[in-house]
This record gives sequence, structure tokens and C-alpha cells, in this order.
Amino acid sequence: MPTLFIIATPIGNLSDVSERAKTTLASVDAVLCEDTRVTAKLLSAFAISVPTISYHQHSGEAKTSKIVDLLEGGKNLALVTDAGTPGISDPGGRLIEELVRHFGERLTVTPIPGPCALATALSVAGVPADEFLFLGFPPHKKGRQSFFERIRLTPCTVVFYESTHRILKTLGELTSRMPERPLVVCRELTKLYETIYRGSAAQVTEQLNSTSIKGEFVIVVAPL
Ligand code: SAM
Repeated sequence: MPTLFIIATPIGNLSDVSERAKTTLASVDAVLCEDTRVTAKLLSAFAISVPTISYHQHSGEAKTSKIVDLLEGGKNLALVTDAGTPGISDPGGRLIEELVRHFGERLTVTPIPGPCALATALSVAGVPADEFLFLGFPPHKKGRQSFFERIRLTPCTVVFYESTHRILKTLGELTSRMPERPLVVCRELTKLYETIYRGSAAQVTEQLNSTSIKGEFVIVVAPL
């Protein structure tokens, strides 16, 4: 039976890769990845030489069929994304869903756990995390108002992802809708400019404005 390994990779700091991730990557017939250039860098950092196959948000049915054929042919594959745990707000989720539907019991899907921005942010947030709601990225247009309204009405901790380009806009919306809610905004986790901002949305905005706003962000909204 072929195996598809779902492998978590670092979210910044390469030392966070696990031994098991490295040995598994070195053992498979091919690695499915979001951006072949990003994964090539990771593999070369560990002197692993394995063919890569791109699988990203715009990949269509033809790419899925190619992956199905490889697995039908008995090849063992690994799935990684650009950073973190595949399937958590990235294209990996859709592929796993399609392959599980196609193969059912005929495919072994094995997780190789490791870094995930969501869990890393929660680990330092200092807010209740025995129950939380994870919402991925805020929609850019349609559904944006209801996204923030849902956060305002949720009684437990809420976590979501945001990019450099939209972080100030998003903090602006949080400031106007829930000015009192404490936030923990985690920037560039595990990287050189890792910074954890704590305070209301307005306070975090002020702190961010006093520095360079570049980076990747996880926003943790504490319960009231
Ligand atoms: N699957 C990934 C995971 O396990 O976290 C997340 C993929 S999602 C496409 C990418 C988003 O995760 C970024 O836009 C950012 O919001 C968050 N992220 C990833 N790495 C991060 C880091 N080092 N620091 C803060 N946020 C990060």
C-alpha cells in the first residue's frame, strides 16, 4: 500500500525541523510542495536530494490525477507546504481530502508533526487555549464584516492569520469593533525579528507603527 507522509516543516527557524521529517523526506520517491523553490532550499539545507512536484492553490484536476497515478503505481510521496503543518490554511488540505476520497483504505496517510504558526502563537499567548476558534485568513471582501462580527461574538479565544499587507487594515477593524479586547499579535515567529505584541488593537497598532511592519502575523484575540 502506498504511503503519503504529511510533513510539517519550519515556520522560520530551520533548526525546528525534526529528525523524523528529515529521514522521511530523504526516503520518499517525490515531495509534493507548494513552491518548488522554497522546498528546494529546505532540502538542500539538509543535503536531501529527492524530486519535487509542485502542488499549489491553482493546481487543477490534471495535477491531482498525476499524483493519484504515482500513488497507484506504488510510489511513496511526502507533502510539505512553504512553512508549517500542511492543511492548516494552505493548499495541502484540499489535496489530502481528494486523495482520501479517491483511495479510501488503500492509502496510508501518515503525519510527521512539527511546527505550526497557530500552535506556536497560542503557546506564548498566555490566554485560555483549552477551547479556541481558528479562522484562517480574514476574507478580503465578501464576508469580511461577518468575519469580524463572529470574532466579536465568540466567547472563547479566537486565532487567525494575517499578512504584512493587510495587518494594519485588520487592526483598524478590530479597533473599531472591539476596542477593549486584549490581543496578542505574534510577528515573525522563530525568525530573527520575532516580536510578540500585547495590548488592545489600538496599542498594538501604535507599537507596529513605531517599527517596520514587515513579516507574517498570527493574531490571537483573548476572550472578554
Ligand atoms: N500551514 C501553516 C502553519 O502550519 O502555520 C500556515 C500556512 S498560511 C498559508 C501562512 C500564514 O501563517 C502566514 O500568512 C502567517 O499568517 C502565518 N505564519 C506562518 N509562519 C509564520 C511565522 N513565522 N510567524 C507568524 N506567522 C506565521
